[in-house]
Parts: sequence; structure tokens; C-alpha cells
Amino acid sequence: MIITMKKGVTEEQIRNVVQKLEQIGARGHVSVGEFRTVIGAIGDDAKIAQLPLEAFPGVESVMPILKPYKLVSREFQEEYTILNIDDVEIGPRTFTVIAGPCSVESEEQIVSVARAVKAAGASILRGGAFKPRTSPYSFQGLGREGLKLLALARKEVGLPVVTEVLDVRDMELVYEHVDILQIGARNMQNFLLLSEAGKQDKPILLKRGFSATIEEFLMAAEYVAKEGNSKIILCERGIRTFETATRNTMDISAIPLIKKASHLPIIVDPCHATGKHDLVVPLSRAAVSVGADGIMVEVHPSPQEALSDGPQSLTPSEFETLMSEIRPLVELCGRTQRQRRI
Ligand code: PEP
Ligand code: MN
Repeated sequence: MIITMKKGVTEEQIRNVVQKLEQIGARGHVSVGEFRTVIGAIGDDAKIAQLPLEAFPGVESVMPILKPYKLVSREFQEEYTILNIDDVEIGPRTFTVIAGPCSVESEEQIVSVARAVKAAGASILRGGAFKPRTSPYSFQGLGREGLKLLALARKEVGLPVVTEVLDVRDMELVYEHVDILQIGARNMQNFLLLSEAGKQDKPILLKRGFSATIEEFLMAAEYVAKEGNSKIILCERGIRTFETATRNTMDISAIPLIKKASHLPIIVDPCHATGKHDLVVPLSRAAVSVGADGIMVEVHPSPQEALSDGPQSLTPSEFETLMSEIRPLVELCGRTQRQRRI
């Protein structure tokens, strides 16, 4: 249920509504917008419907949310969510480029990539420390050591960093080292991990599961939001189809569809979507054109020697080309590539 409050509503009137909801075991998520404050009532809909909420002072209207996801829906919040991570803005006014190696492999590798991607205009550095590999015999990442190296690169170049947290037991450790916590495609329906991510106060980069529908994807985001963390960046990274020419099939229509259904920012990962470095530029251009809020790209100093995902990684010079290829499109779409917090 969405409870829209009147203009000029007082803190006390908001508190009264939230308390009433809590009395029947429901929760009230307060969202203060530019024009209106709304309270998302989450819990047993039948019980909530019986409350005389319209009679409460300060309440303007009460409407059911028709979608199964509530807090992340546009019905709940009309305005786009804009995230600020250090001085990097993610949202409708900017186009944020996240870049870095698939896996952190050594100090030299991560620091050199960090410098290169920063120089080319990336605003966030990525690098996996705990790697979810299909084969148990493949490189599994440097773990704790990888996190330390990522944090070191962060300090060296001054870019915020993102890495994947694979397991609830690593949440605290990963939290201490990074600015954004990534939940990977394989864990998109790890509901315990999602709930734990929802208890953190850092943004969550949530990747779409490769067999997940858009509704399931948004329900996964709802798990995070329900626990109180609405700082979520969605990431379309390709889904599995009958097509084998690419590693996955990039679901380009997911971006405008999700923009209609949700207020959350959504970015695209053209590397995991295709598995092919030479498709990264055209698909990044497509991402800009359909309104994505950014991209995440794998960059390695020497892709042929990468310990994971070499075939889909760009060299630093290919990354520079990518940045100059998308720049005019980004401008044409009325976005800036990097915007400092005002
Ligand atoms: C990654 O971004 O490093 C990754 C493993 O991606 P995905 O979860 O989308 O496969
Ligand atoms: Mn990868």
C-alpha cells in the first residue's frame, strides 16, 4: 500500500502512521521526495487494508501497489533514485563507467589497470577477489589478499571500488575494503545474502541472474530494499538463451522496461553479456542509447594472460577507444560522464 502524505505533513503525523502500521506487524518505509512524502506500507495487505489510514492527520491518499515488488517500484517512488558514491553520481543525469579486471591478480596488475582506466575516464574501479567460477579447478580469486590489493589501488588512484561478496560469512570483511558490494548473477536468488546486503549502509550492485525474469530480478532487489538499503544499482549482464554465438544474450529491452517499472539506476555489463571483447564497443553504444545509467567493463593489461575472462576483457588502449566512442552518444543523450556532487 502507498500512503501519500499531504504537503506540509509534520514529522509527528508521519510517525503516527508508521507506529500504527507497526502495531499490526507491518512496516512503514518513509520516502521523502521533492514534492511529497510517501510511506510504503509493507506487510499483510489484508490487515493493512483494514486500517482507517485515510482518517489519519496528514494523509492525503492510500493506494494499493499492484506489482509484487513494492519499495523498488515506480509506483512507490516516482523520481529516479540518484546515488552518490564519494563524488561519483549514478542516476539519470550521468553515465557512469565502472572498469577494471575480472579478477585482482597482483599489485602491479590492479594498480596499473586502475591508473589506465582512471586516465581514460572511468569513475569506479572493479576487481574480483572472491570469484564464482563454473569449475572448482579454475582460479578462485585471491580472496582476502585480493581485497587488500583492491583497497591499495583505491588509495593509489582515488577511485571508489566495487567487488563481489560471494558469501554472507564474508560480508563484514568485504564491507571494510570496498565502497560498493556486488552480488553476482549466480547469487541473485541467494535470499540470505540479499537480506544481509540489505542491512549494510553501502550501495549494492545487483547483477541479473542468467535465468532470471525481470520480475524475479526486481524481487531480488526488493529483498535488499526491504531490509532498509535502497542504495541499489541494477546490472543487466546477459541472460541464457538458445543462442551459443555469444556467452549470454544481452537483453537490451530489459533496460527501458526496468526504467519504467523501477526507480533504481540500471547499468549494463557488455563483457559478461557477450564473452567477446570485440562486441563490447557496439553493445556499450546500445546501452547508452536505450537509457542505461552506465556500464561495467573488464579491462586487463594483457588479456591473453588473464586468470579469468580474458576473451571478454579489453586492453587499456581498447578501453580508451571505447570511452571516446561512447562520449558523443552520452552527450547526445543529455548525460555527463562524470558529475561531482554539488
Ligand atoms: C563479475 O562481474 O565478476 C561476474 C562474475 O559477473 P556475473 O556475476 O554477472 O557472472
Ligand atoms: Mn568476469
